[in-house]
Amino acid sequence: TSAHLDAMAAKRSLNAYITETPELALEQAKESDARRAAGRAGALDGIPLGIKDLFATKDVLTTAASHILDGFKPQYESTVSQKLKDAGSVMLGKLNLDEFAMGSSNTTSYHGNVVNPWKSKSDPAKQLVPGGSSGGSGAAVAARIAMGATGTDTGGSIRQPAAFCGVTGIKPTYGRCSRWGIVAFASSLDQAGPMARTVKDCALMLNVMAGHDPKDSTSAPIAVPDFAAALTGDIRGLKVGIPKEYRPDGLSDEVNKVWEQGIEWLKAAGATPVEITLPHTKYALPTYYIVAPAEASSNLARYDGVRFGLRVKGDSLDDMYKKTRAAGFGAEVRRRIMIGTYVLSAGYYDAYYTKAQKVRRLIAEDFKKAFETVDVILTPTAPSAAFGIGDNTDDPVTMWLNDVFTIPTSLAGLPGLSLPAGLSADGLPMGLQLIGRPFDEETVFKVAGVME
Ligand code: GLN
Repeated sequence: TSAHLDAMAAKRSLNAYITETPELALEQAKESDARRAAGRAGALDGIPLGIKDLFATKDVLTTAASHILDGFKPQYESTVSQKLKDAGSVMLGKLNLDEFAMGSSNTTSYHGNVVNPWKSKSDPAKQLVPGGSSGGSGAAVAARIAMGATGTDTGGSIRQPAAFCGVTGIKPTYGRCSRWGIVAFASSLDQAGPMARTVKDCALMLNVMAGHDPKDSTSAPIAVPDFAAALTGDIRGLKVGIPKEYRPDGLSDEVNKVWEQGIEWLKAAGATPVEITLPHTKYALPTYYIVAPAEASSNLARYDGVRFGLRVKGDSLDDMYKKTRAAGFGAEVRRRIMIGTYVLSAGYYDAYYTKAQKVRRLIAEDFKKAFETVDVILTPTAPSAAFGIGDNTDDPVTMWLNDVFTIPTSLAGLPGLSLPAGLSADGLPMGLQLIGRPFDEETVFKVAGVME
């Protein structure tokens, strides 16, 4: 823990942490030493972790990287961070993210952007994004200032930053981890998951994080298997789906190359690639950008200047609400609230929101059908390697395109894991994504274990 705290101090320029909690960390580390000495060590005893600042942590600032939560210290701990604590892990601090987890580059944080520790060969001075929204988590694991981190993924926020930072991360099946105490973005999509250096580290973390929670009605009352035990190295006979819709015309050669390489690895290990079709893939992005903002606009209604964080004085109650929300939310969050409010309004609800829900069902059925013939699906995680800070910001839609390979999985609620699979020509990490059947993270882990 102290080695990590020193490294954190030396690497503050990455801006990976919003809040560091060194005193708390050292105290927890001491308690861990005592437990180990007494032979009572938990599954993650003494392991120093970073917690994405979207998880409520008792008496520790929880910002969601938004100005509107200034000064908010929850009176309670999220279920997932509590489980990690109960397993003996140490919390180093709270990790930076896009404001309310809305973004793919960690540039919308009120607390400033995160810098990817990786540099390109062609322009080593250029600062690159770590991906988002769990950009602080990806950067911290890559820079060795956390042994593992929590992330959350609504449309790719664990997988895309894992790919950009050369680490591994899994978004479990929707319902696998409790959402209780996680600042809500889009409740029907949000899922917590681990980000770490290896597949096995992710499996060990997920063992602890997962499980039914009576406090979250959408958490699944399904037993949690030992995910680490699934890493047998034996994938002989497994069928791996390769969706043809994930090979659009403009897909870059280097992404294709990494994907082909991944297919070769799996073949060499005795699995069989099978071409599959997911015909509604092209509707996933527009569907997500109706469903997610709709839920966000409703979830974010609670930030009214009364209950949490920031309050800006006004002439009346309404005026106070308006001034607080205008000052407290950044541009991307306001954009989502406006889109969400629009698609939920009486005149447009059926045309947009109901329609999107129907298309969401079709996307889920595509996967269901594919999983009748294959055991797991392999795709690229993102359409490119990390880009420069400030790039892709002129037009929000360009930024949204980053999640074209991760969003369908989220809409279908399926588990998706990203693991590092090679370097781009410019020396930057590239990720591949493995998608599994609902609650079959074991197969996903098993296949990933063979590929790393
Ligand atoms: N980039 C997507 C968005 O901005 C996904 C974010 C996430 O998964 N939290 O909504």
